[in-house]
Amino acid sequence: MSNFDVIIIGGGIGGASLGAEIAAQRRTLIVEAEDVCGYHSTGRSAAFYLDSYGGPDVAKLTLASRKFLDSPPAEFSDRGFLRQRGDLHLTRGVLPELPSEVETRVVERPELEQLVPGIRPDWRRALFEPGCADIDVAALHAAYLRAFREAGGEIRTGAGLEVAEHSNGRWQIILSNDSRLSGTVIVNAAGAWADNVAKRCSVEPLRIAPKRRTMVQLRVGRTGLRDLPLVDGADGSFYFKGEGDRSVWLSPHDEVDSDPCDAAPEEIDIATAIDRFEKVVDWPVERVERSWAGLRSFAPDRLPVYGYDPVAEGFFWCAGQGGFGIQTSPAAAKLAASVLLAEEPDASVAGINPQIFSPRRFR
Ligand SMILES: Cc1cc2nc3c(=O)[nH]c(=O)nc-3n(C[C@H](O)[C@H](O)[C@H](O)COP(=O)(O)OP(=O)(O)OC[C@H]3O[C@@H](n4cnc5c(N)ncnc54)[C@H](O)[C@@H]3O)c2cc1C
Repeated sequence: MSNFDVIIIGGGIGGASLGAEIAAQRRTLIVEAEDVCGYHSTGRSAAFYLDSYGGPDVAKLTLASRKFLDSPPAEFSDRGFLRQRGDLHLTRGVLPELPSEVETRVVERPELEQLVPGIRPDWRRALFEPGCADIDVAALHAAYLRAFREAGGEIRTGAGLEVAEHSNGRWQIILSNDSRLSGTVIVNAAGAWADNVAKRCSVEPLRIAPKRRTMVQLRVGRTGLRDLPLVDGADGSFYFKGEGDRSVWLSPHDEVDSDPCDAAPEEIDIATAIDRFEKVVDWPVERVERSWAGLRSFAPDRLPVYGYDPVAEGFFWCAGQGGFGIQTSPAAAKLAASVLLAEEPDASVAGINPQIFSPRRFR
């Protein structure tokens, strides 16, 4: 039997980032059911950073993550993870309202035509958010796993938590390969499986709901697209961004209820994405180069959940990161680590009240 202080279930960005923040102080293990960490939501994101995304409370975590993502400490990475792109929130009518701390400016039709050549005439204006950037998700996730290991953390892949029981202040855990572990704290960082893991630990679930989102890489008959701004419909019906010189990443902004699973795209969602795209620009669609889908998992109030379960001793939630789990990971991990370790938070998150994200709000 291996003994740990903290056992983190799930090696996606949630588990990896929190693990990296605590491993120097607690003997910590990450248990990942798949053969590689990052196989599910973390490896399938649209990989952008957007200040305004997810509402004002999520924006607090996003804004507090910016500095770390832009210029991380040298020992964490020798280069930043962001590449500036900007975002156009397009509208045929009313401009969207964004959190007041987010920098924006209005773009009228003549400038819109320069920024998105070939844009169809009914898109009248847009709100431009200059802070939007691409995130190098693979590099960020790898850096967190590296930092975790360097701080003494252990990772076991290829076997998931099967069942766990709490007695005498410790968790006894059985993995799917029959190996046994014991730990003082279980961190539930299982993404779409967060409720499933809670049930396996006899902890009441929080109704974390996985929702499928589709991404399509399209080749189009237009060049010079790589540095195009992210373009999204202010009505929430599509977004796309330049990928290669002649290709875009496109999503129909779908949000389909799903069981936790290895999500795959449906033909109808790919067709919907292309149909909406063709109503925005006149670029000839040549072919679908690839498509994929992933699960974005939301708590009932769509805020993430970080903190000890008030009813189940030693059970810590790190779940419900929805569509913002990458861009919020630095601040969320620091905030969650301060709660987990019962320590003063890092200065970068000192102004954020962790109670906003506590599972207490559901109990
Ligand atoms: C299409 C799409 C686009 C997105 N775009 C963005 C974006 O642009 N910017 C952004 O910030 N975010 C984006 N997101 C959201 C982001 O990807 C997620 O919020 C984030 O990846 C969640 O990380 P996680 O670690 O909680 O989940 P995951 O990466 O899914 O990790 C959870 C892990 O837990 C493991 N697990 C489950 N059950 C068990 C078990 N019993 N035992 C052991 N391991 C288990 C799973 O195998 C999995 O690897 C997007 C998501 C999708 C799907």
